[in-house]
Amino acid sequence: MRETRKGMLLVISGPSGVGKGTLFKKLLAQDETMTFSVSYATRDPRPGEVDGRDYHFVTNEVFDEMVKKNGFLEYAVVHGGRYGTPVQPVIEAMEKGLNMVLDIDPQGALNVMKSMPDCVSVFILPPSMSELRRRLEGRGTETPEKVETRLANARGEIALKDKYDYLVINDDLDAAYEQLKSIVDAEKQRSKRYFPIIED
Ligand code: ADP
Ligand code: 5GP
Repeated sequence: MRETRKGMLLVISGPSGVGKGTLFKKLLAQDETMTFSVSYATRDPRPGEVDGRDYHFVTNEVFDEMVKKNGFLEYAVVHGGRYGTPVQPVIEAMEKGLNMVLDIDPQGALNVMKSMPDCVSVFILPPSMSELRRRLEGRGTETPEKVETRLANARGEIALKDKYDYLVINDDLDAAYEQLKSIVDAEKQRSKRYFPIIED
């Protein structure tokens, strides 16, 4: 049987420390049709982060140039840093029928939902605010001030959860991953994305 598929744009949001990265990295490792959109960011790299793999770490000047030449699908200021999704890799992935994951904040996600209405949006929730704090502190990547900024912003982000197609609570990691995987698998079979050719 022959078949063709249209690419899916999967938009994942959720408060900092909820486990978005952990979940989508598992998805990328297990699903070869998935690619990741590497955002531009003006913040400093964390230990272990690689330029061009985790983010394109750029200066404010380079970021401004991207804005000026309409190089971003969306961009926003998040927790005091600037982040943007380059538009070209998204267009290329969609043309090739590949699926692409964006890990972006709700401001950016709402803009993508408007400009790419066929996108699939998932908001990841923590089981509690105290567990979110534990994870953010436990990750050990932010200064205590940055942890507080991120936790203070979390409530405002969670307030936008109803704008998303799907909600996943990341309590038990394996259970949350299975839910995310089910969403992706079902969305792949939508008749607007999946075109099997039934031969005689
Ligand atoms: P985000 O990308 O949303 O900022 P991360 O994926 O970096 O979050 O996860 C934050 C921390 O929480 C990491 O140390 C990660 O290992 C941990 N974590 C992720 N999911 C779970 C879970 N279900 N239970 C416990 N810890 C988790
Ligand atoms: P972090 O600094 O922890 O990597 O990311 C902080 C926040 O920025 C997260 O909520 C993440 O989803 C968001 N983010 C990362 N890349 C982008 C992007 O390209 N656009 C927008 N709007 N948000 C982003």
